[in-house]
This record gives sequence, structure tokens and C-alpha cells, in this order.
Amino acid sequence: MVASLGPKVIEVRTPADLDAVEALVMPGGESTTMSMLLERSGLLAPLAERLAAGLPVLGTCAGMILLAEEIVDGRADQHRFSALPITVRRNGYGRQLASFEVDLDVAGLSHPFPGVFIRAPVVEQVGAGVEVLASVEEHPVLCRSGSVTVASFHPELSGDSRLHQGWLSLAGVLEESSAVEEPVTERH
Ligand code: GLN
Repeated sequence: MVASLGPKVIEVRTPADLDAVEALVMPGGESTTMSMLLERSGLLAPLAERLAAGLPVLGTCAGMILLAEEIVDGRADQHRFSALPITVRRNGYGRQLASFEVDLDVAGLSHPFPGVFIRAPVVEQVGAGVEVLASVEEHPVLCRSGSVTVASFHPELSGDSRLHQGWLSLAGVLEESSAVEEPVTERH
């Protein structure tokens, strides 16, 4: 999704890869496995440092779990970055609702965004300074705090690029006006 919007994309697997990026997507997957891999790859400390320094990050689903301050129903030894003050419950939508799709009303978007939820975490609490941009029933599903954006769903699976576009603009990677090319004029 990011590549389709223009920026160069690399996979971050080592601390050197991390040094090379100016914004980071922490994808879905399995947060306990990702936690172990972050440890083994030596990424845990450098990533915590970059996050503390304001690296723009988009965490989706398992990525959101890793960025949370509190994890309910996680593994006791699961790492978390506490990059924003939210409490998430892993697999919180239960068995019947484990995976579902729902149209979301997102703050700042003119028409609904298709939300694809796959064994998604439930956001149970949000702390001070967290902006809730979309909710399903009473639970936030899209939140932002400073340079950190998290979604309990998978915006990359819906074919709708508006959330990535907004996030990349906010991250300063994509110019907000990139859709409307301004003529180049000479400056004196
Ligand atoms: N259930 C997964 C976890 O606990 C997250 C699922 C996902 O990323 N789609 O990490």
C-alpha cells in the first residue's frame, strides 16, 4: 500500500535497516512471535529509542499490541513499547467475531472506510492525549497519539489507501498536496 503511494519501502529486519527508514509500519501477525523476533534480531532497544525520539509509526493489529502500554491476555514475557497509553486485550473480539468486516466512520474522512478485522485486539482503555479517530460500538479501533497511529484492523487489506495516505502525509514522507501538482515558479 505504501509503495503504491510512491515512497520507497524496505523490510526492517536488522538495526541497520531501522537506521535507514524515516517512518515505520509495524504490521499485523502474531504479537508474541514478533516480540521474540524483535529480541533475537537486536531490534528491541534501537526501536524503543527511535520510538522515543518520535519516529512516525503505524501499528496495525499485532503492531498495535506491541505499541500499547498494557496488554491483557498476552504472554507474561511479551515485550511492549508503551508508545501510547492504551490498554489492549489480545483476540478480544471473541470466537464468533474473531474476523469480520465493518464500515468505519473515520474522523477526517468524507465517506466510510472498510475495516477488516482479523483476530483483532480490543482497545479497552485510552489515556490522556490519545485521539480516537474511529470506534466500533464503544471500543476505539483507530487511535493517534503524537507520531504514533494504531489500528486494530488491517487498512492495507481493503484496497482503500486513504489511511496510509493520511499517515504518510502526517509523517512528512508524502506531501499533502502531492495529488495537486503546483507549477514550478522561479524564486528571486
Ligand atoms: N491475534 C494476533 C496477536 O495477538 C493479532 C492478529 C493480527 O495481527 N491480525 O498478536
